Amino acid sequence: MAIVYMDNNATTKVDPAVFEAMLPYFTELYGNASSMHSFGGAVGRDIAAAREKLAELLNAEPGEIVFTSCGTESDSTAIYAAIRSNPDKKHIITSRVEHPAVKNLYEYLAKTGYRVTWVPVDKEGVLDLDFLRHHLTDDTALVSLMWANNESGVIFPIAKIAEMLRGKGIVFHSDAVQAVGKVPVDVKAAGLDMLSLSGHKLYGPKGIGALYVRKGTKFSPFMIGGHQERGRRGGTENAPSIVGLGRASELAQEHLQEMDTRVRALRNRLEDGLLKAIPNSLLNGKKDERLPNTTNISFEYVEGEAILLMLDQFGICASSGSACTSGSLEPSHVMRAMGVPFTAAHGSIRFSLSPYNTEAEVDFVLEKLPPIIERLRQMSPFWKGAGCRLQ
Ligand code: PLP
Repeated sequence: MAIVYMDNNATTKVDPAVFEAMLPYFTELYGNASSMHSFGGAVGRDIAAAREKLAELLNAEPGEIVFTSCGTESDSTAIYAAIRSNPDKKHIITSRVEHPAVKNLYEYLAKTGYRVTWVPVDKEGVLDLDFLRHHLTDDTALVSLMWANNESGVIFPIAKIAEMLRGKGIVFHSDAVQAVGKVPVDVKAAGLDMLSLSGHKLYGPKGIGALYVRKGTKFSPFMIGGHQERGRRGGTENAPSIVGLGRASELAQEHLQEMDTRVRALRNRLEDGLLKAIPNSLLNGKKDERLPNTTNISFEYVEGEAILLMLDQFGICASSGSACTSGSLEPSHVMRAMGVPFTAAHGSIRFSLSPYNTEAEVDFVLEKLPPIIERLRQMSPFWKGAGCRLQ
């Protein structure tokens, strides 16, 4: 069965060109980049070249890039660096819709003496900037806000927020794991102190991430160890993956235009087609300020997991905004923060496309999904009850 892969916000395939670039570093160019011999030194130079490529994608300086093992490590590094560098400040701010990589660390910090402000979003997933402004204090050490939401695709106005924070002595970090490679990310224009990204979201390998640290930002390492990454992250460099991320950064630059045009058009075809064909379906997220590849749609009165299982029978890969926790299907914290109605929050499905998707694949989903929803609704006592009201 052919796979129709529309779950690229979860992870992406490694682009064949990235894979090819990585291969020599396993069996031929395996020297330690820190070695005195030229065999290892060559690897060090290739790591430097990869750093330059990633820096170019972000409009950063190569020295401002720290390679890590994933987006989660980048987020933890940034958050701990900010609070350790400002030990007298005990207030930190984030949004209610962050990825667990930030959310769960903030929840942990709340238990260890930090006062946390969770900035709300409206029903379209748009951040409440007035709330943020009113909660900034002299005690605020850090504001960490994602560039783009992994579930809804909604983009936060990072440059505007940086402007709001300017001159206040507050560290500004953004989790841009979902944004890099999908929309232009220019760290200089954005005015950030730190930014996280992850290789496996942009057609690079899993197990590699990076953190941008603006020159002059106070920093302390999270992984304390060797002198690698100029003392900012201990651990022998993952040369194959760093080279892979470098190649993926070049490709991401090339793909940005296609993301904005062809991938956006495919996403819109899918989204418009589903909303038109399926009654009681609602778009989750602001239509205009979203990642071009992402759509999140709720189908009222059906369970997301049931939809996914039925899509799976046709080889269609997507994600649901509800997760099976402790035996009950709980809507995600993102759907709850957006106030998605109870009847809809359980049936939210995210499709996240890539340049590898085709119009034929979109049409395949448009053919298969409406009868799936129809069939599930026929089995749902809630739909039968609601049907009388909603016709
Ligand atoms: N932040 C966001 C917004 C994400 O979507 C993800 C992964 O889904 C992460 C952080 C974590 O990245 P990684 O899987 O590389 O640790």
